[in-house]
Amino acid sequence: MTAVQPKPTAHSVGETFDSLSPATDEVVGTYPVHSKEDVRAAIARARDAAEWWAGLGYDGRAERLRRWKGVITRRLPQLCQVVRDETGKPIADAQLESVLAIEHIAWAGKHARKILGKQRRAAGLMMSNQAATVEYQPLGVVGVIGPWNYPVFTPLGSIAYALAAGNTVVFKPSEYTPGVGKWLVDAFNEVVPEWPVLQLITGFGETGASLVTGGVDKIAFTGSTGTGKKIMAAAAETLTPVIIEAGGKDAVLVDADADLEAAADATVWGAFSNSGQTCIGVERVYVHERVHDEFVAKVVEKSKDVRAGSDAAAQYGPVTMPSQLSVIKRHIADAIERGGKALVGGVDAVGDRYVQPTVLVDVPEDSAAVQEETFGPTVTIAKVRDMDEAVEKANDTKYGLGSTVFSKSRGLELAGRLRTGMTSINAPLSFAGIASLPFGGVGDSGFGRIHGPEGLREFARPKAVARQRFTAPIVLTSFSRKEKTDALVAKLITVLHGKR
Ligand code: NAD
Repeated sequence: MTAVQPKPTAHSVGETFDSLSPATDEVVGTYPVHSKEDVRAAIARARDAAEWWAGLGYDGRAERLRRWKGVITRRLPQLCQVVRDETGKPIADAQLESVLAIEHIAWAGKHARKILGKQRRAAGLMMSNQAATVEYQPLGVVGVIGPWNYPVFTPLGSIAYALAAGNTVVFKPSEYTPGVGKWLVDAFNEVVPEWPVLQLITGFGETGASLVTGGVDKIAFTGSTGTGKKIMAAAAETLTPVIIEAGGKDAVLVDADADLEAAADATVWGAFSNSGQTCIGVERVYVHERVHDEFVAKVVEKSKDVRAGSDAAAQYGPVTMPSQLSVIKRHIADAIERGGKALVGGVDAVGDRYVQPTVLVDVPEDSAAVQEETFGPTVTIAKVRDMDEAVEKANDTKYGLGSTVFSKSRGLELAGRLRTGMTSINAPLSFAGIASLPFGGVGDSGFGRIHGPEGLREFARPKAVARQRFTAPIVLTSFSRKEKTDALVAKLITVLHGKR
């Protein structure tokens, strides 16, 4: 066995660090390890730039975001190559995540005014002399901390929305994908050269921690649940609000009337693409007993056509983070020791960098492979008596990010009963590509939302204004108020709200 590639770890310190290709160990870039002082200086620059960027208004910002997405789109092959160099994923997958991210930049820029601009609110009968409005003002400086698995799509889901809402951003990409982060920030700075509206800081966990405590107005974190908890605890010291987009253990439900071909295809793609390193990847499947065997046979058949490798024909690449290999191996070994069967793959599917597809059945529900995030190209399939049992088992997890339902007649009903932030029906992961839909989870998958109107509002503070239009016939907020006014108010409220 050859040693796994010496990727940087969160404990490394030094002035610079190397970004290595997970496929070849080749150094593909060298980046600074930014210190606490560097991070504070970046936040200070971002604060200076915030007024200018907010002052551009919705149209000015939308225009810059439009130009940014144009640059990214025209240089897509270059960006995809950087993603491939740092993650090992196929170019086509790098393109897919970038295309979705471009859609989000476009949506955020285009819709910010409508969602965040001044809106009138009804003042109510008692306050009818008032004009009520609310507008969503920028927070100031937002710190974005990103993971490596979707180094374009994931951080841009926060960055684009934070920028569109009028904030400046200090971005700390994963130590595994600093080059992708730099590429995105450089492209932005080409179209916004005047002020440091979007800045890059690089380094390990310590650099991210400095961003959390450095005085930003909000932290948008995407990464593991464990890191999310640390970030939330650190942010509590300064009451800095946080969005936590963390891990998942997403399930697919397959009903008796489901299109089994489509469900099997979605399972295989959802479980194995990107080497299973997808927060909303398929890790568990619950199948109605009437179609279980047929479904499993289809999944097994389709899995045979899927292979990990570095060549152009391989459907997915290496495991990006070497430490994950032992987690994947432990989950498979534990599942098999406890009575599970590997119909495809198994413990030997876990190599030094590549993990071949593994399909597990008969795995006890309380085993690691069903309860913990595997983050590898494995999937467990379980037979259920009916869809009530499927819902119950799917919900029996501390996570709650995404889910998928295959059912011709009960899709919406089953989707509504799943305790996850997002569900797609009869197709895999579609919610992620719909820019108007909020993205985020519940439980150990985190809280807060990116994407859509909710994603814009995450990066703004609602400002309520009540303007008196004329003096009310009954003045309530004065010491000059008379007893008869109180009596009148008591009568009025009884008429309005006292009905049995
Ligand atoms: P990670 O938690 O190890 O690291 C994420 C980022 O946090 C990195 O930039 C890292 O440097 C930084 N960091 C580490 N310690 C820190 C600290 N103490 N303070 C501040 N920052 C710190 O996660 P990862 O391995 O990069 O990503 C994989 C995880 O991300 C998986 O669990 C996956 O499910 C999750 N993920 C979630 C979503 C989502 O939208 N919910 C999307 C993609 C990935």
